[in-house]
Amino acid sequence: MYYIGPRFDHKRTFFFLNDSLHRTHEPVIIGRADHPVSRSLVASSALKVLYRLKDAGYQAFLVGGCVRDILIGITPKDFDVATDASPDEVRSLFRNCRLIGRRFRLAHVRFGDQIIEVATFRAEHGDDLPDDEGSIEEGEGDAEIEAELMVEPDDRRVQDDRGRLLRDNIYGSIDQDVWRRDFTCNALYYNIQDFSIWDYVGGFADVEARVLRLIGDPETRFREDPVRMLRAVRFQAKLGFSLDPETRDPIPRLATLIDGVPPARLADEVQKLFLTGSAQRAFDLLIQYRMLEHLFPATAAHLAAEPNGMASRLLRVGLESTDRRAADGRSLTPMFLFAVLLFGPISVAAQRRFESGAPANLAIAEACDDVVSSQVRRVSLPKRFSIPMREMLALQPRFHRRSGRKSLALLTHPRFRAAYDFLLLRAEAGAEDPELARWWTEIQELSHDQRIERVESMPSDAGPGGPAKRRRRRGGRGRRKPAANPPA
Ligand code: ATP
Ligand code: MG
Repeated sequence: MYYIGPRFDHKRTFFFLNDSLHRTHEPVIIGRADHPVSRSLVASSALKVLYRLKDAGYQAFLVGGCVRDILIGITPKDFDVATDASPDEVRSLFRNCRLIGRRFRLAHVRFGDQIIEVATFRAEHGDDLPDDEGSIEEGEGDAEIEAELMVEPDDRRVQDDRGRLLRDNIYGSIDQDVWRRDFTCNALYYNIQDFSIWDYVGGFADVEARVLRLIGDPETRFREDPVRMLRAVRFQAKLGFSLDPETRDPIPRLATLIDGVPPARLADEVQKLFLTGSAQRAFDLLIQYRMLEHLFPATAAHLAAEPNGMASRLLRVGLESTDRRAADGRSLTPMFLFAVLLFGPISVAAQRRFESGAPANLAIAEACDDVVSSQVRRVSLPKRFSIPMREMLALQPRFHRRSGRKSLALLTHPRFRAAYDFLLLRAEAGAEDPELARWWTEIQELSHDQRIERVESMPSDAGPGGPAKRRRRRGGRGRRKPAANPPA
C-alpha cells in the first residue's frame, strides 16, 4: 500500500484492468487531508454501524454511491457498508439486523425507517449478479426469503430444483470485492479506521473528471449484467457525468440484451431512472442509446411514428412535472409515470375502440389493459399500480361533464386527485382545452353551495361521457377522441 495525494495518474492502475493477472491488490490510499469526505456528511446511523464493526475488530468501509455522492457534493440517498465480517457475524453485532438476499446474504441494519445495508466482501465469480427479483414485484415478501434461509442456514450454495442458484456465498477480501463493482466511481472505499479512501481502480480521478468508466472490459461487463447499461444512463442523468468512450460505444449494439433481463428487475431500474429527479435527461439518453425500444417498445414505436405528436408533448410535460415533484420532495408513483409513458399507445388503442362504438371510458379502460398486458412482459407493473392507472385514465372523459349535481360526484372519487393532475398535464400538452382544466381547478376552491350553484348554471352537456342516451354517429361531427381529446 502506498499513500499519495488525490492527483495521481490513475491510468497507470487502470491500464491493466481488463487483464485479471494485472489486477492490483494494492489500493492507492487517499489520506483524510486529501479528500472532502467528512463524518459530518455521513448519516449517524451509518457511522454507528461502521464504528461497531471496527470496535469488534472488523474492517468497515463506506462504499459505492454514498462515497461518490459526497465527493461531488450531493447528499447520498443511502449508505452502503462493506466489511470482512460474515453476515452471521454482522447479525450478532446488531439487534436491529436481519439477513436478506437469495444468492448473496446481506445484512440490513434498521434505524427507524433508515436501513444501512452491510455487505460482506465478496470474491467475484461467474454468477456474480444481483437478485433477479425486483423489489416492487408483488408476492416477493422478505418472509419468503427468510423462510428459505431457515431451511439451510449453513449451506454455502443453495439451488432450486431447476438448478437456478438461489444463494451462493463466496466471501472474499476487499481486494477481491472491488472487481465485481460496476463503475470506477462506485468502487471507492472510505475506511472508518483512519478516514482514508481506498482506490483500486482510479475511481477518485474519474470522479474528479466526472467520468463514468466501467471496471474491466466494457462489453464483457455489459454482457454479464445488461442492467449496467441502464445504470450508466442513470448515473449520467443524475450526476451529469460523461461516459468514457470505451464504456459508451458498445451500448447501442448491446442494448438488445436488455430483453433478457427479468421484468421485475427492470421495474426497479425504471423507477430509479424516472422517479429520482432526472427523468427528462434519462429519457433522452435512453433514446440516444437505443434502449427505450427495449424497455417501452410500444412507446418507442409511437414516438418514432409521431415525433412531434401529442403523446410526445405530454411525455415532455409529464417528465418535467415528475422532476419538479422529485425536487420538491413530493410523492411520486409508478402509476402516474406509466400513464405518462404509455399515453401514446393507449390513446391510439382507445381511439380505435371508440370509433367502433365503445363508450369513451370503456374504450380507454380496455386500451389500457391491452397496452399494459404487453408492456409488463418487458417491465413489470404490479396490479396495485396498473389498476389505479386505468381508473385514472378512464375518468378523463368525465371531466367534460360539468352540468347538474351529478357531475360533482367526480370530486369525491378516490382517483379524482390523480385524474385531475393528469387533466392538467393534458391541458399543458395541448391535448385538452385549458379552460376545462381551469374550471376543475376553480370548482375545488368553492364552498358546497357555490359548487351546486356553479354546476346548475352550466348549460347541459351531451357527450360520450355525459348522458348515456346520446346517439353515436360514426366519425360524425361532435365526436371526440377518447384520450387525446376526451369526450364529454
Ligand atoms: P445510488 O444508491 O445513488 O442509486 P449506487 O452506486 O449506490 O447508487 P446501488 O444500487 O445502491 O447504487 O449499489 C451500490 C453499489 O453496488 C454500487 O455503487 C456498485 O459498486 C455496486 N453495484 C450495484 N449494482 C451493480 C451491478 N449491477 N453490477 C456491479 N456492481 C453493482
Ligand atoms: Mg446506493
